[in-house]
Amino acid sequence: MKKTIAVLAGDGIGPEITDGAIAVLNAVAQKFGHEFTFKHYPIGGCAIDCCGVPLPPETVEGCLAADSVLLGAVGGYKWDGMAGDARPEAGLLGIRKAMRLYSNIRPARLFKQLADASPLKESLVRDGIEIIVVRELTGGIYFGERGSYDDNENGATAWDTEKYSVREIERITEIACRLAANRSKKIVSVDKANVLESSRLWRKTVHAYAKRHYPEIVVEDMLVDNCAMQIVKNPAQFDMLLTSNMFGDILSDEAAQVTGSIGMLASSSLGEGTRGLYEPIHGSAPDIAGRDLANPIATVLSCAMMLRDSFGLNGESAAVETAVGRVLEEGYRTADIYAEGMKKVGCREMARLIAERV
Ligand code: NAD
Repeated sequence: MKKTIAVLAGDGIGPEITDGAIAVLNAVAQKFGHEFTFKHYPIGGCAIDCCGVPLPPETVEGCLAADSVLLGAVGGYKWDGMAGDARPEAGLLGIRKAMRLYSNIRPARLFKQLADASPLKESLVRDGIEIIVVRELTGGIYFGERGSYDDNENGATAWDTEKYSVREIERITEIACRLAANRSKKIVSVDKANVLESSRLWRKTVHAYAKRHYPEIVVEDMLVDNCAMQIVKNPAQFDMLLTSNMFGDILSDEAAQVTGSIGMLASSSLGEGTRGLYEPIHGSAPDIAGRDLANPIATVLSCAMMLRDSFGLNGESAAVETAVGRVLEEGYRTADIYAEGMKKVGCREMARLIAERV
């Protein structure tokens, strides 16, 4: 298979972690007989420095022409003083918009080898955790009508609106069902249907769509307050959560936190078609940039998602995830996940070890 991957390394540790991920993808290409071409484009602070804007037009064109996009991270002290649209982070929002990405998928995965890193007690996490949070990204209360006014009696008053259409709910349900079909075939749809009208439409639409198009998938409902509780009470019960923009924002951070290790968590954003944007959930970590200290595993696991969800290469994706598990099993650790008695390695060496085991 021939694929072109746009690489937006960005700032801080971005270039180190994307280099590591490319080494792993090259190992996949070699082992399975594929041809991956990597095209690099600037984004964020480095784009401001070279081109005057955080998202140059050639970066957008390059991403739209590619089969998929790998992103490192953006931002850093140097650009912290800049305002609003001129900041490196504006590049991120811009590329998500340009690629029309309306879903955000974050697997909160705790490898059983790293059970110690979780703030939850050992009995809850000893077999590892993997919760895929599928979050609607471009609708709901973050994009609904809002306003504020002065009320003479009560002082300043502000309001926001949670609004969803059947079309918006159906397209995010499609993404969740497509991913679930390759996994446990079980989705927990999270809402607040006991109170919110928009949640009642959400629930009805998710069930109707899944039943019509994916009858083999089991959809269960859970109220968001209960879900927040269940994530810390019994995280292993979940395989996939499907939810709205705001609930997904909150629950995906909660689920990530139960794994305890920011350098391990991958994500993808998808829209129509198979092209996606794949990135670690962490930032550019300027405090450790350029010192070969970063953990490349979140970015490597983002590539495993790309192989499966954009290219349909399930075996190759599993090979990358297995290689990560093996390296951890053998006791190799970057500084952020290091524990006494383990073998400490840098970013480059960690990526090399994973590539070797692919
Ligand atoms: P951060 O995620 O960059 O770092 C938080 C802490 O985690 C730091 O101590 C850092 O050293 C550590 N860390 C993060 N990733 C790591 C890795 N792979 N390996 C080892 N340690 C790792 O968050 P922050 O410090 O709040 O933000 C730094 C910059 O990143 C800011 O400019 C922020 O705006 C930006 N940011 C970018 C993104 C993105 O590009 N998607 C996301 C979040 C923050």
